[in-house]
Amino acid sequence: MENTTIGKPMLASIWTTLRKFDAKYRDFVENAVLGIFQATVTGQYIKVNQALADIYGYDSPERLMAQLQNIPEQLYVQPSRHEELLKLLGEEKAVSKFESQVYRRDRQIIIISETVRAIYDGNGNLTGYEGTIEDITESHLSEIALQAALQTAMEKEKTKGSLDSYSVSMICHELRSPLTTILLSTNLLGINSPLIGEADKLKYLDRIRAAVKSMNDLVEGFLVIGKADAGRVELQKVPLDMQKFCQELWQEVQLVTSSEHSFDFAYNCGTVYLLTDMTLLRQIFTNLLLNAVKYSPQGEKIHLQIHCQANQMILRVQDEGIGIPPENLSGLFEPFYRADNTTKIAGTGLGLAIVKKAVEIHQGEILVESELGVGTTFTVKLPIISNS
Ligand code: ADP
Repeated sequence: MENTTIGKPMLASIWTTLRKFDAKYRDFVENAVLGIFQATVTGQYIKVNQALADIYGYDSPERLMAQLQNIPEQLYVQPSRHEELLKLLGEEKAVSKFESQVYRRDRQIIIISETVRAIYDGNGNLTGYEGTIEDITESHLSEIALQAALQTAMEKEKTKGSLDSYSVSMICHELRSPLTTILLSTNLLGINSPLIGEADKLKYLDRIRAAVKSMNDLVEGFLVIGKADAGRVELQKVPLDMQKFCQELWQEVQLVTSSEHSFDFAYNCGTVYLLTDMTLLRQIFTNLLLNAVKYSPQGEKIHLQIHCQANQMILRVQDEGIGIPPENLSGLFEPFYRADNTTKIAGTGLGLAIVKKAVEIHQGEILVESELGVGTTFTVKLPIISNS
């Protein structure tokens, strides 16, 4: 046998080396930053180092082993993780970086990463496992935070992207119908010009004007939102004859919509001085009147009440139309938002977003009241400088 050839001095030297190695090994285990352990498959620790005791919140390895007698139940937040670890060990013999949530002694939850190998008895049965445990809570949390930040940034980009392409397709859609009107009308005027009468010519020209106007409004609306978002709207003090202003707007609305609604206009303001931007002011009135027409049957009444008191001009646009479902009221002023009962009526969902923005720029306020099948009232309050 080989060891018969080993003399005493040699044995002593091997022994010393082993002791040194053992001491070094013990030193390494005891001072390691990683938790090092041996455990049985039945769920008890047999050996643990100080680092593991520290990770789990015990003052010594002895206390840890005395108090932690059932690893799956006492340690793992999900006891089934322990079963999964043993199953993997049975199949693979070694498992690395197996991550689980565990309870520290003070019930604080931490995340650990276990790298272990299987221990077998003489008959090849799995009896235990040994290896290292690392507390990865912090790095894991910062990774989660990083992932979350990335996810949010990506979502934002995605929404931004889809909103942009959505905006573009909506604008195109909205521009298409007035463009078609212009094309048809100019064709008719061009081809049949000698044959059509003066009255028809004027009718086609009016249609073209109305179509150009509606395209212009849409483009202006976007420019307005863009300008307002960039903080570039400058309000001017403007004297306004409300009666003239509203009658003109109503005529434009009638022209664009071919409305046969009757217009009930009441006002008590003469000329008012507003700190305003005329494009924005027109957007407010036009969009509310257009919606009142669009969402109520032909022939119904549209009421426009303008009423000045103290330093406020209160305008109320009321229709007797389809109304707005209560659950849709809160989202109404968001861009592209449309109520559930209007999916069959053409629209972009932009008008009220523009109105809201315009009202805000005027330091005003907008309110909506509606009842399904009865009608809708929008109330806008705008500050006035004075009325005379
Ligand atoms: P659009 O009319 O182009 O869809 P708006 O932003 O002007 O866009 O309006 C948003 C939504 O609010 C409309 O789609 C409609 O569902 C609802 N709405 C606005 N005004 C009225 C109204 N007077 N009566 C009923 N529903 C309305």
